[in-house]
Amino acid sequence: MPPQAYPQQVQPQQAYPQQAYSQQAYAPQHGTPPCVMCGAGPTADATFRGHRGLIIVMQFLKQKGPFCRDCGISTFRTMTSRTLVQGWWGYGSFIVTPFVLLINLFQRGKVAKLPARQPDANSGQPLPLGKPVYLRPTMIGLGVPLALVGVIAAVAIGAPKSGVGGCVAITGTDSWKWVACEQTHDGKVISEANSENGCGDLDVYMEERTRKGRVTGTDYYCVDSSL
Ligand SMILES: [Zn+2]
Repeated sequence: MPPQAYPQQVQPQQAYPQQAYSQQAYAPQHGTPPCVMCGAGPTADATFRGHRGLIIVMQFLKQKGPFCRDCGISTFRTMTSRTLVQGWWGYGSFIVTPFVLLINLFQRGKVAKLPARQPDANSGQPLPLGKPVYLRPTMIGLGVPLALVGVIAAVAIGAPKSGVGGCVAITGTDSWKWVACEQTHDGKVISEANSENGCGDLDVYMEERTRKGRVTGTDYYCVDSSL
């Protein structure tokens, strides 16, 4: 009987140094608070944001850390990819969303550089990482601002430039209009003159300056009809 009792007594003593060892090894490796999502460490303080534009109403979403590397990156991916699609809808939201995306990228850096998470007995499963943001279908949301910028650029290019460098088209016996130089035109303004006779051999196109409905002067545009 005594030989049986002996190992039973020894066992707790064996367990003790192991426990002490694991605590010692654990704590100094990351003296950081546990991950809010899974309880593991090491963690970094980071706050990921989301934005939802609802035409008139704006929704600001926020997820505060500390995060372990996996949960941090997962939260970054979820919040960012949702914002890519939901962020643009509204005047204010359109301005806010790029900042939210940039802040998230900056915050991502904090968790991405953490060492791999070290789960212990108290920690749960980390959030699933999922695909990187750029591989998600929500990336199509980036097309919204790009399309708008494209439309604005097209309008800006299409708008006729007036004054020197602008192009003119004759619209009647005594009328003309500014047109974009990419369009069909009858000439290009290469200088301005002070009078009807100031353009020399070049054609002169006149335009009345008006202010509050009253004519305040006349502009004389010298037009090269070969351009
Ligand atoms: Zn975690």
